[in-house]
Amino acid sequence: MVKNRSDWEQYFQSLTLEGRAFIDGQYCWAASGETFASNSPVDGRFLANVASTDVADADIAVQAARRAFESGVWSGLAPVERKRILIRFADLILAHKEELALLETLDMGKPISDALAIDVPATANAIRWNAEAIDKIYDEVAPTPADQLGLITREPAGVVAAIVPWNFPLIMASWKFAPALAAGNSFILKPSEKSPLSAIRIAQLALEAGIPKGVFNVLPGFGHTVGKALALHADVDVLAFTGSTAIAKQLLIYAGQSNLKRVWLEAGGKSPNIVFADAPDLHAAAQAAASAIAFNQGEVCTAGSRLLVERSIKDQFIPMVVDALKAWTPGHALDPSTTVGAVVDGRQLESVLRYIEVGKKEGARLLAGGNRILEDTGGLYIEPTIFEGVTNAMTIAREEIFGPVLSVITFDTVEEALSIANDSIFGLAAGVWTRDLSKAHRVARGLRAGSVWVNQYDGGDMTAPFGGFKQSGNGRDKSLHAFDKYTELKATWIKL
Ligand code: NAD
Ligand code: MN
Repeated sequence: MVKNRSDWEQYFQSLTLEGRAFIDGQYCWAASGETFASNSPVDGRFLANVASTDVADADIAVQAARRAFESGVWSGLAPVERKRILIRFADLILAHKEELALLETLDMGKPISDALAIDVPATANAIRWNAEAIDKIYDEVAPTPADQLGLITREPAGVVAAIVPWNFPLIMASWKFAPALAAGNSFILKPSEKSPLSAIRIAQLALEAGIPKGVFNVLPGFGHTVGKALALHADVDVLAFTGSTAIAKQLLIYAGQSNLKRVWLEAGGKSPNIVFADAPDLHAAAQAAASAIAFNQGEVCTAGSRLLVERSIKDQFIPMVVDALKAWTPGHALDPSTTVGAVVDGRQLESVLRYIEVGKKEGARLLAGGNRILEDTGGLYIEPTIFEGVTNAMTIAREEIFGPVLSVITFDTVEEALSIANDSIFGLAAGVWTRDLSKAHRVARGLRAGSVWVNQYDGGDMTAPFGGFKQSGNGRDKSLHAFDKYTELKATWIKL
């Protein structure tokens, strides 16, 4: 049954939101007793008081995680057993689909239809995919001389901490905890202070599924407190991060200042979406360009925020994009027909509006959008915004805005398109639209980006790795490559 807005309201009234941390199999408040209020960007309503954990809580959680790891209750299970339990976890997440979707929407503002159709199922799918993989991965035997046996084995790394952002709270977390848990590690999840509720909720489901206490812990709180504590902790083996490039750099420093923990970083982007005059379908390209900047309020690391358009089609194509953006008008996030919800919080709203002002000042031409709207809802809504006449030197073409602001840049040649596309500190993703197969391959090869999409934008599933070149990060989420982050390779030499 499709719920309408008042059904969701009624359902919300029936829920008791949990705001405590989850450590060693139990919900608990921070040792300090500190809390912070979580208010919804959808309409400003109060959601919950959330435990503000810090150094002391991080210590307790790391100790619990280490104890669990050493005991073998999880790390020592046969992969097929971990698989069974993780599949139960995925099933429980799906069984609580509506509750989790509602938490996601109210906490960070995305449309309820997306939370239901994308965030929750994709999270369950990530868990299931990694669970299904783990009893099908074999180790190696080295090509040794006859008197030696060389075994190359993977072992779980130990205690993994993950620090994740608020744009896809459950999905970003699952891309890390699913492979880490499948591989036998103990895990500590630090959700964003802007979106802690779904992570807190699934901790209970993990326990219910049979993941032993201490193996999956959730520490809500701020980056500069508990996030930093985990990053500096001497007994965390791996730190997996998704978030901004600025914080990613800080985490490398913390690792160097502490125990040289492995640090895996999925950071920011400023992805180019290149439309050549010979694109197979300009209408499809315009639709994709619009969704690439408006989906999830533009709060997407791979947002196609730089639209590179070949000059000969500019006058035809740009109006098509402006038109396509009309389908992305913000509405109340709990209305099932809404395609664009609320921006995560007041700071983010101000930051996006500031970038729009900078764009105007630097001489870009505003074609549509640019305003805060729906203020009467008490929520934080911004119109999808498009600038043309942007040069790649302008601030709005260089910095990650992380909001629905599209910069259109024109080019004349393939070489110029590639050079503009690669002229960025980031290298997360890129799109190419052309019907010329050879050109598509040449450009795809020339792009310095972790994901390249040809004649589409934002394709991909669990089967392919995801991550960045350059300052977009290191390491890869998804696919079997993700296990590299959470395992150590051991070489064992046996003299025969
Ligand atoms: P952010 O870097 O501000 O915060 C991310 C996380 O880091 C949060 O949990 C935060 O509490 C924590 N943190 C902040 N300061 C910290 C510190 N000093 N020590 C330890 N932890 C700290 O990013 P955000 O605003 O939450 O998310 C938006 C960013 O995430 C964008 O840059 C976006 O591109 C990026 N992102 C990247 C990907 C990817 O896969 N590459 C995916 C989604 C989002
Ligand atoms: Mn929130």
